[in-house]
Amino acid sequence: MDITLIIAIATMGGLGFIFAGALAFADKKLRVEENPKIAEVNEVLPNANCGACGNAGCYDFAVKVVNGEAKINGCPVGGQEVVDEIARILGMESSQSVKLVARILCNGGLAEAKFKEGVEYIGPESCAVKTVVAGGEKLCLYGCLGGGDCVEACQFGAIFMNENGLPVVVEELCTGCGQCVEACPRGVIEIHPEDRELFVFCKNHDDPKRSKEVCKVACISCGICARKSDGSIVMKDFLPEIDYSKLDISKIPFDKCSTKAIRFVHPEKAAEILKEEKIEVKAN
Ligand code: SF4
Ligand code: SF4
Repeated sequence: MDITLIIAIATMGGLGFIFAGALAFADKKLRVEENPKIAEVNEVLPNANCGACGNAGCYDFAVKVVNGEAKINGCPVGGQEVVDEIARILGMESSQSVKLVARILCNGGLAEAKFKEGVEYIGPESCAVKTVVAGGEKLCLYGCLGGGDCVEACQFGAIFMNENGLPVVVEELCTGCGQCVEACPRGVIEIHPEDRELFVFCKNHDDPKRSKEVCKVACISCGICARKSDGSIVMKDFLPEIDYSKLDISKIPFDKCSTKAIRFVHPEKAAEILKEEKIEVKAN
């Protein structure tokens, strides 16, 4: 065998041996022992890695929760069962998991929105694309584009598009992860506690004249709801803004909102609440 080849093999072998030894030594001396509770917590998490907890993924959340840097009820996808499990692993008292759901805050579907004359959109059914191609076919530049990017984004199958071209959230399946919120280029979707009922179903910031021109059900910023609300609703940039910490629904004149832009999510629940509060107005 050629002497050069023998030297090369011996050198590479020797170097390999030295580096392997150095790595083994470093592993022994520098290893940081991981808290075994991190793996236990990670095990009980949904492992959807959706980021709804505000961390890079489930493992990241597990590290933070074990290190006391995140709350044990910080995973909205896992629900109460996961909160209880984490509490057991960490030997803590369990706490209440707040169920969050996505709300679609636009009423302007195919039947209500007004469309640009002579404009036909030919392209992918995608809100992200529509929004950059002249803002889609609808005149309203704030409402739902109807392309279903939120439906695509939801890994829990909790949104579908209805016949009127608007997304509908299946509350039982919604985990409140917020991926639909991220996907919506119009900011039409918000995450709220499940028991929150009253919303402004419009995102249009046009002045009253323009808002009537672009959609039959846009908020026309008349301000009646704000004037009667005892400060829980304020008008901001042509839209009512609800302060839920002050809200007294008995003060809100639902029957006076001509476009029903402010209403309850569940009309049947609204009727119940209004009856309990002895408010004699027509619910939406
Ligand atoms: S609808 Fe889907 S994507 Fe949106 S919050 Fe609910 S589960 Fe998450
Ligand atoms: S809510 Fe947003 S993402 Fe969903 S269809 Fe409408 S514009 Fe698109």
